[in-house]
Amino acid sequence: MEDCLFCKIAAGQIPATVVYQDDDVFAFRDINPQAPHHILFIPKQHIATSMADLRLEDSETLAKIFAAAKKIAHELGLENGYRFVTNVGPDSGQSVFHLHFHLLGGHQLQLRLG
Ligand code: 5GP
Ligand code: ZN
Repeated sequence: MEDCLFCKIAAGQIPATVVYQDDDVFAFRDINPQAPHHILFIPKQHIATSMADLRLEDSETLAKIFAAAKKIAHELGLENGYRFVTNVGPDSGQSVFHLHFHLLGGHQLQLRLG
């Protein structure tokens, strides 16, 4: 999609620290990390602005995103735990409107979620 920051990052038009990619999934380090490891997982295609407009047909892509996140968490040694979250809409503070999931880990995460 034109003028979408994460589409441009996935296409290599804007530099990022890439940690994983395959045909469908792209993962890169967050520019403003909230934990020692803070990685964003996105579908390469602009299939949704957030989980609010996901469709059942997106299931396979979603499964691939989760599988990639699990693999990277393991490779980073996050065996003691991590968080995998997605923001939806203004109350969540969502700021980029290309579906993405935050993988956070590497220290004791705050328990407060809401
Ligand atoms: P949201 O708040 O929409 O859930 O998450 C968007 C995330 O994208 C934020 O954590 C923010 O730091 C990150 N971000 C915004 N612009 C860039 C960028 O240009 N490069 C990278 N690597 N991360 C970005
Ligand atoms: Zn996009």
